Amino acid sequence: MERGQRCQPLRLDQKHPSNRRHQENQEKTKLKASYYIAIDLGGTQIRAALADQGGRLLARFDQPTQAQTGPEAVLNRIVATVDRVWTDRSQQPVTAAGVSAPGPLNPWTGVVYTAPNLPGWDHYPLKEKLEARLGVPVQLGNDANLGALGELHFGAGQGVSDMIYMTISTGIGGGVICGGKLLLGADGIAGEIGHQIVVAGGPVCSCGNRGCLEALASGRSIARNAINALQQGRHSLITELVNGKLEAVTARIVAQAAAAGDPLSQHLLDEAGYYIGIGIANLLNLFNPRRVVLGGGVTRAGELLFAPIRRAVQTNALPIFTERVEIVPAALGDDVVLYGALALVMT
Ligand SMILES: [Zn+2]
Repeated sequence: MERGQRCQPLRLDQKHPSNRRHQENQEKTKLKASYYIAIDLGGTQIRAALADQGGRLLARFDQPTQAQTGPEAVLNRIVATVDRVWTDRSQQPVTAAGVSAPGPLNPWTGVVYTAPNLPGWDHYPLKEKLEARLGVPVQLGNDANLGALGELHFGAGQGVSDMIYMTISTGIGGGVICGGKLLLGADGIAGEIGHQIVVAGGPVCSCGNRGCLEALASGRSIARNAINALQQGRHSLITELVNGKLEAVTARIVAQAAAAGDPLSQHLLDEAGYYIGIGIANLLNLFNPRRVVLGGGVTRAGELLFAPIRRAVQTNALPIFTERVEIVPAALGDDVVLYGALALVMT
């Protein structure tokens, strides 16, 4: 409303020179206001965006990480990616850059401890290095944690202050929002919700433990379970969809077969949904969120996955927690982490 009032004289006489100056000044104020950079460093892609103070992405660019070239070369590529979106440093003053990185890291010092998909990253001081190269303050966060912040501020978590985000793709990760804030824990590595144990002594997980949610319901696990069943002689539409090549089976193929009515695939999604529901029930009991936001490629299966999830939540969480909680799909798709990096420095 205040802005509208300021603009009123311009509407009366747009062509008056003093009004034009006023408009130009306003433009300058707008340009000088503040911009933000968001960077999503992944094992395969580096994405960067320039955003205005309203959180709108004005420019974006991505290119391959070429992770095998090592941290210093990847740092150069991050800077080069930023250069493509931050084209006018004098007219686009940047307040801060938010960066998402995979793997465990220290969000306060900005040191990446290790990253499974980034060879050679061993206690790499990414925040310090990027600040020196970009000349702006940098904040760093874990990718799944920042996904939670992204959905909270720009996606399906808007309007609530207690929310859990779970991303179900090759692995399972997430973030916990309590009272509007991302839960970091004592060492900044909280929210590893994919490594909660849902079946004691269950299948081996990528972390080395047994029975983690990730070992039972991730995309990788769904594909593995499908392959095992097919190797045991189960008949399924999956075999046709991959032309008999079992190594080509993915969770996406399983979802495709399930949607076409394939009983084995529907059973596999039911089973994954059941374990995800158990995991969510645990999280409801612990954190009492108002909303649970589910993202990641596996959730594209839609109701074939969400229905068993909701059933398992209903039967396994205390009723007082399930009465008012909503379980909803994520809204930001592949941009979720980029928006999270933005939220990290804007909020
Ligand atoms: Zn694990």
